[in-house]
Amino acid sequence: MKRIEDYLEGVKTAAIAGHVNPDGDCVGSCLGVKNYLADNYPDIQADVYMTGMKDIFRYIRYSDAVLEKAEEGKVYDLLILCDISSRDRINVAGPLVDTAKATLCLDHHKTNTGGYTWFYNFPEASSASEVIYGFLDPEKISCACAEALYTGIVHDTGVFQYSNTSGHTMEVAGALMEKGVDFTHIIDRTFFEKTFVQRKILGRVMENAVLHLDGRVISGVVTLADRKSCGAGAGDTEGIASELRSTKGVETAVFLYQMDSSHFKVSLRSQDIVDVSLICSEFGGGGHTRAAGCTIEGSSPEAIVEQLVSRIQKQLEA
Ligand code: 5GP
Ligand code: MN
Repeated sequence: MKRIEDYLEGVKTAAIAGHVNPDGDCVGSCLGVKNYLADNYPDIQADVYMTGMKDIFRYIRYSDAVLEKAEEGKVYDLLILCDISSRDRINVAGPLVDTAKATLCLDHHKTNTGGYTWFYNFPEASSASEVIYGFLDPEKISCACAEALYTGIVHDTGVFQYSNTSGHTMEVAGALMEKGVDFTHIIDRTFFEKTFVQRKILGRVMENAVLHLDGRVISGVVTLADRKSCGAGAGDTEGIASELRSTKGVETAVFLYQMDSSHFKVSLRSQDIVDVSLICSEFGGGGHTRAAGCTIEGSSPEAIVEQLVSRIQKQLEA
């Protein structure tokens, strides 16, 4: 197994970046790498790029050093990409792929098609954070680095609940716990705790949710009007798709979030039959077998739900 150190020879400057709308795994994997480099390779200038990081992740060391904009013309020796899923989803650091001297992409999205100097993709891994752990020397992982990676694993597994959780995931999480991470705080304050606005928008979605195909599929929608009346933004709906799926009898959940008058962000979640990454790929998105996303153009949520349900039906009947 290769280690991250194998790619650091002669590297003086490194950029670390993840995907747009960073979730816990994106934040955890990027800051995990940042902490590891800062602890063990202090001579390397390592910049983390991320936009829209939630304040709940501020306990992670170096979260305050995150850059929101890439300096014009800056050329890095190495660009490290974590959890990106696809090239068009890379955050503000996207243009660095063309200018960096080399790019190392570490991911766990089966729809990631690569195209980097070094590309290591493990779709069976729970999270990018679990992948990153495999590239680090366990002896050199500090508590701060462990807190970042543990956060990523907790978020992408829904606190070790989703089917992407393996025995190996638990071993990695156990090893990170041994570093002294405050797991109670991480799980409670960043995964379970929600703001009042998040509770309101979840309630709105559940109140108007619809069952399809004899209750095997459920759909929920957040419209512009819902957003306005609850005061909710994009970051407030995380977790709703999984909540929908946890409905008795449901195999697949469809969640639509209206971005503007003609675009919906789609999140699909499935239990154990439907490969939702195939459906989202068809619409230019991607993700994992049981959790994927895409953006669909249209103004009628009902029509979009219908298109998605018919594709889910095909898979259920196959
Ligand atoms: P979510 O539904 O939570 O936005 O995303 C579920 C999974 O699908 C995540 O792993 C996310 O990275 C991936 N994903 C979501 N939207 C897109 C998209 O538009 N394109 C690609 N390639 N992946 C996506
Ligand atoms: Mn991830």
